[in-house]
Amino acid sequence: MQDGYKRDINYLRISVTDRCNLRCLYCMPPEGVEMVDHQEILSLEEIYRVVEAGTLVGIRKIRLTGGEPLVRLGLVGLIDRISKLPQIDDIAITTNGLLLKEMGKDLKKAGLRRVNISLDTMRPMLYRKITRIGRLEKAMEGIETALTLGLNPVKINTVVIRGVNSDEVVDFARWTKEAPVHVRFIELMPIGTSSPWAAENFVPAEEIQRVITDKLGLLQEEKNLAGSGPAKYYRLAGAPGTIGFITAMSDHFCAKCNRLRLTANGYLRPCLFSNGEVEIKTALRSGIGTEELAKIIASTVMLKPDRHHMDYGWNDARVMSQIGG
Ligand code: SAM
Ligand code: SF4
Repeated sequence: MQDGYKRDINYLRISVTDRCNLRCLYCMPPEGVEMVDHQEILSLEEIYRVVEAGTLVGIRKIRLTGGEPLVRLGLVGLIDRISKLPQIDDIAITTNGLLLKEMGKDLKKAGLRRVNISLDTMRPMLYRKITRIGRLEKAMEGIETALTLGLNPVKINTVVIRGVNSDEVVDFARWTKEAPVHVRFIELMPIGTSSPWAAENFVPAEEIQRVITDKLGLLQEEKNLAGSGPAKYYRLAGAPGTIGFITAMSDHFCAKCNRLRLTANGYLRPCLFSNGEVEIKTALRSGIGTEELAKIIASTVMLKPDRHHMDYGWNDARVMSQIGG
């Protein structure tokens, strides 16, 4: 369906859990998110019902995210059910990849098409520092698994933080010449835990692109990557992989926004950056029918703002893992 600004909304991003097996500095507080009662989090059946109702108002693409989606018990079964809905033509996950080696085969068998894996550095010590508890080796094994299983295109999400990993952008770009990985440099956003320091550590995509071009040569624009979304993609001459830029801060892509979000605790969120949410857990738990649910989804779509105003600051109690990045 179209929202109030004539944008087609066909993509639902679902945070299946607010828990995570990492504590990335820009995303989570060191102690993790506050433990909420299990009852507060939508059950897998409730998530499925929202997807099913969403298909009635034009939802065609699903992304499961979090928190870390792979720590949610029953995820494989949920993917299996969603992939059997005839209207859904794309199902993907965003993951830190740590559990992909163990789960990759089952996920693919259940109908998972492709993965985005987050990796901010290829240096073991720095990986530990950024994630606070993670081991680089596990993430790299996850990426290897995704490539071997053909969960294509394998996209790598790299948040660039000045003075932390900003000197590694050329190494990441060089990787796309060696392997069919699609590295997407993401501008640091002032959300949740990163909001106090994001501005001073911000690196604009235009600067990253300039550094890469200076070292590795010209980037050719690439238009044919599956699920291209908000990133702009480029290719180094002869490279099997591509380089993308997600410029949420320096050049927002709101005019092309096609998404709606579902938080782990049952709120539909029309825009990542606006806290105008609609609670649907109560309706789900009081026996609402699928068509009525679809009407709530449709009215939430109409609440989408024309654009975000994140440069004005973050005044939301939620952190990224709760909303679903
Ligand atoms: N745990 C999974 C992962 O890390 O891929 C999925 C959830 S995570 C919230 C989704 C994406 O949001 C990750 O690529 C992460 O790097 C990104 N992210 C989180 N906080 C961010 C911030 N403040 N600015 C930019 N990207 C952020
Ligand atoms: Fe966890 Fe992903 Fe947030 Fe890192 S970015 S703490 S892996 S949810």
